[in-house]
Amino acid sequence: MTEASPHSIRSLVIVGGGTAGWMAAAALAKHFHGSGLAITLVESSEIGTIGVGEATIPTIRRFYAKLGLTDEAVMRETGATAKLGILFQDWRRVGEGFIHPFGLYGQDHGDIGFHHLWLQARAAGDDTPISAYSLGAMLAEKHRMALPQVNPPTPLATFDWALHLDASLFAQYLRRYAEASGVTRIDAKVAQVEPGERGAIAAVRLDDGRRIEGDFFIDCTGFRSLLLGEALEVGFEDWSEWLPCDAAIAVQTENALDDPPPYTRAHAKSAGWQWRIPLRHRAGNGIVYSRKLMSEDEATATLLSDLPGKPLIEPRAIPFRSGRRTRAWAGNCVALGLAAGFLEPLESTSIALIETGIERLKELFPDRRLNPALAEEFNDATAREMERVRDFIILHYKLTRRDDTAFWRHCAAMPVPDTLRRKIELWDARGEFIRYRWEMFHPASWLAMYTGFDRIPEGANRALDGIDRAKVSAAMKRMRESVANTVAATPSHRQFLETLDR
Ligand SMILES: Cc1cc2nc3c(=O)[nH]c(=O)nc-3n(C[C@H](O)[C@H](O)[C@H](O)COP(=O)(O)OP(=O)(O)OC[C@H]3O[C@@H](n4cnc5c(N)ncnc54)[C@H](O)[C@@H]3O)c2cc1C
Repeated sequence: MTEASPHSIRSLVIVGGGTAGWMAAAALAKHFHGSGLAITLVESSEIGTIGVGEATIPTIRRFYAKLGLTDEAVMRETGATAKLGILFQDWRRVGEGFIHPFGLYGQDHGDIGFHHLWLQARAAGDDTPISAYSLGAMLAEKHRMALPQVNPPTPLATFDWALHLDASLFAQYLRRYAEASGVTRIDAKVAQVEPGERGAIAAVRLDDGRRIEGDFFIDCTGFRSLLLGEALEVGFEDWSEWLPCDAAIAVQTENALDDPPPYTRAHAKSAGWQWRIPLRHRAGNGIVYSRKLMSEDEATATLLSDLPGKPLIEPRAIPFRSGRRTRAWAGNCVALGLAAGFLEPLESTSIALIETGIERLKELFPDRRLNPALAEEFNDATAREMERVRDFIILHYKLTRRDDTAFWRHCAAMPVPDTLRRKIELWDARGEFIRYRWEMFHPASWLAMYTGFDRIPEGANRALDGIDRAKVSAAMKRMRESVANTVAATPSHRQFLETLDR
């Protein structure tokens, strides 16, 4: 251990012990190990956590790998199943579905992207869905799963995967990790936030009378945003004009599925959508809806009429607002998780945004002089990243072809943010993608959406006129066969899960 500078932050206080709080505690304890930084986490078991947030994207695996945790260990500890993507049922039209996989489609032809070949074949009358060229999508469709090859010889052997996990088991697992790494846990309610100098926080006062001082604070208090939102009065930018859902009802059920699908199901309903997340010991379910167009009773009835097993708990209503805190870092406080903002759960981005927030904080961790350049960069990157995710989620509503309810007619007709409008216009014109800074979703994900919603561009890539169609068509056939053969040789998702028990 080298001598810390006199300006170094010595005490870090995390308020909140949900997924965000324990992820931050575990990752920062590991990162700053041996530096002399004391980390305290205050949580209130009386208040509890939000208790949802069980579908992830593949970055979660990179997150826990940095802690030295293996896929097998995390899956075993959290009752997890594998997630290869999301099935969007009834979003395009009632009765139609498609999978958004974590992974790529096909092989490019020189520098012509594969999707241009597919679009050309489609225009010539070939109705093979683009999913036939994606190993991830086909594995998901057939309920198969194995670990991807380490050095795949071709992009056709590539896919990525994430987990469905029990959020409370995950938080408990990270808590054990963090406490073993030296984090001090206090179970008490923060009753008051004590201001310090120059817009900073000096300490938090607990309901048992204790006063916990800190050089730096992380607000992980969920929707309450007790430190950043309430005490430091950082405002909230509301995105409900584009994201019409503002409430959820969640219920856990017995897992009656013998053959658990390796994907999350997002099933569009008359004024929102319903999730189904298979875990090993139970399933997570919930409906996300617009309170303007659906009553709580109707939402509950819709949810209960479409469950995979018997409910284990009473359905629980969770009102929410989509949007973000105008600054995620103010004074000596950073917010992570729901305290920093929320985009509705479609595409399961919230835990991934906690991960990137933690990564950014590691990189920009200040000293007690709080150089404003650090907060400025943190806030700019956080804002841009959330806006990009927001746009991707809005896309799911905007591209619908449903006109059977007021909700879907509204979604199809609503104006969208300029950043998204430009993307859609470019796709419509030429089948190309705009890539902005800080994008969580890559072009393959945008392609999954455009093709899943049957949004076909007007113009084709000019270079397609010069290719040998017969040769390309034969190559595309080989690609489909290669994917199909790999899928046929892959064990079922159930078998994959059973290997964890050995
Ligand atoms: C309907 C819905 C579905 C979701 N689905 C997904 C999903 O599939 N995938 C995904 O990535 N994300 C999802 N999310 C988001 C996900 O739930 C959160 O990002 C994640 O659970 C992190 O929550 P949190 O830790 O910020 O807040 P919480 O879980 O609410 O934790 C807040 C913590 O703060 C503590 N606290 C609050 N006030 C005080 C106080 N005064 N004193 C002391 N402690 C206090 C609480 O006790 C608790 O420990 C979903 C969210 C909703 C609303």
